Amino acid sequence: MSKKIMAINAGSSSLKFQLFNMPEENIIVKGIFERINDPKGMLFSYTVKDEKRRTELKIISHVEAVHYLLNFLLEEKFVETLDELEGVGHRVAHGGEFFKSSSLVLEKEMEQISQLAKLAPLHNPVNLAGIQAFKKSLPKCPQVAVFDTSFHQTLPESQYIYPIPMKYYHENKIRRYGFHGTSHQYVAQKAAEIMNKELSDLNLITCHLGNGASVCGVKEGKSYVTSMGFTPLAGLMMGTRSGDIDPSIIPFLQKERGMSADEISNLLNNQSGLLGISELSNDFRDVIEAADNGNKQAVLALDIFISRVKQTIGAYAAELGGIDGLIFTAGLGENSAKIREKCCEGLEFLKVNIEKNKNERNDVIISTFKSGVEVLVIPTNEELMIAKETVSLI
Ligand code: ADP
Repeated sequence: MSKKIMAINAGSSSLKFQLFNMPEENIIVKGIFERINDPKGMLFSYTVKDEKRRTELKIISHVEAVHYLLNFLLEEKFVETLDELEGVGHRVAHGGEFFKSSSLVLEKEMEQISQLAKLAPLHNPVNLAGIQAFKKSLPKCPQVAVFDTSFHQTLPESQYIYPIPMKYYHENKIRRYGFHGTSHQYVAQKAAEIMNKELSDLNLITCHLGNGASVCGVKEGKSYVTSMGFTPLAGLMMGTRSGDIDPSIIPFLQKERGMSADEISNLLNNQSGLLGISELSNDFRDVIEAADNGNKQAVLALDIFISRVKQTIGAYAAELGGIDGLIFTAGLGENSAKIREKCCEGLEFLKVNIEKNKNERNDVIISTFKSGVEVLVIPTNEELMIAKETVSLI
């Protein structure tokens, strides 16, 4: 029997939703509320059967957006009654060590998600606000939390413990958690389907390259090594995030320039990466265009980005003892043939060979017939993954 399942992705100033018919995986309606918490009101856009509409609303908060959404579903006859919604799945940023997989959310889980806000102060509180708003309006409908961290709960200790005194792990929970887990897991599963193999028989490297970017080494179907760490600042260079830097730079800036912890956090999270180097934009399209027009800083920014991706692929291939598949996903990974080509250049020694035409056409399989590694372009779909997890738990 078909079930109507809602997938919710609440951010600090936005709330995205997709209503699915499951298990058919049909999208009934999807949309986004933007500019939440802006006193001028929010923007609401939605798409039904490829037709996009957009309106301005006078409401302000996440709770009001949820009420509006439920009324909208009724008024536009996407549902006859709200009882038709059989489950709501929520993306939650941080599940810490408590949530090793997705979970139904009752009182105890709400409390845990709230306590984990210490580790994800910008995200967990808004994710929780979304859950609470749905619980209030739909008290009988099961709510499920799907965590960005849980796919990475299979990392071995040797990958998640940082080489600082162990008491900081025990007392402060400082360890590598990894993020984008829902996306890495989704594309790894899809890759296995495309390759017609069991996921548990495959070693893969999945590259989620968007505004935020991370790489995951998937060993026999499980996350084994990943580039984001205690927070999503670690690893690759990103749109505005530095990624890995020498940690001594932080106390040096504090002493030398009198910068506070908050100022340095803002510098590394919001002013660095592509934006910091190019001094133009945090958007890859802008920087690629500027580089094509000969802008030296744009060229340098892309060179650093590509070099970091390539180093990570090489390191993870070594850690996994070779790979069967290399997957590109997210805004840049799905759309930029040029970046994929550059990231694969010189990887022939790992048996990675891509075919120019297939790559430029954005084919699903972009490797040559002779390539020892399948190189795939797979659009990520975190919302569908959330809906699937929700169905499996309700
Ligand atoms: P996030 O979800 O982390 O905000 P996305 O996965 O949507 O990010 O990726 C956004 C990035 O993808 C932007 O930097 C954008 O410039 C880049 N991008 C999207 N389409 C293209 C394209 N055709 N060529 C190059 N970059 C692209």
